[in-house]
Amino acid sequence: MKKKKQNFEQGAVVTKPGSSKNYHTGDWRVFRPIIDQSKCIKCYQCWQVCPDAAIRIDKKTERVEIDYDYCKGCLICVKQCPVKCIAKEVEKK
Ligand code: SF4
Ligand code: SF4
Repeated sequence: MKKKKQNFEQGAVVTKPGSSKNYHTGDWRVFRPIIDQSKCIKCYQCWQVCPDAAIRIDKKTERVEIDYDYCKGCLICVKQCPVKCIAKEVEKK
């Protein structure tokens, strides 16, 4: 018996290089990481481990900044920070 072809609607599919920019995955966040800049030693370990490349280094100030449009709130950066200067709080929607 021949199977009937089903048409499924595409979800969040990467259809071309760079298209992931269009998906603001920060909407999924339950916890929000917050950097205490006064305690940051600029080791950039958080920047290295962020799976979403949501942590940027400001070229002028050399400070790390979180792009909340893409941060999913996995809190890996919180765990990684050697001086514990990234706090977490429940996201307020
Ligand atoms: S919480 Fe996760 S996604 Fe957000 S900045 Fe930290 S490591 Fe990146
Ligand atoms: S891991 Fe912590 S101390 Fe290092 S750059 Fe990130 S916030 Fe600053």
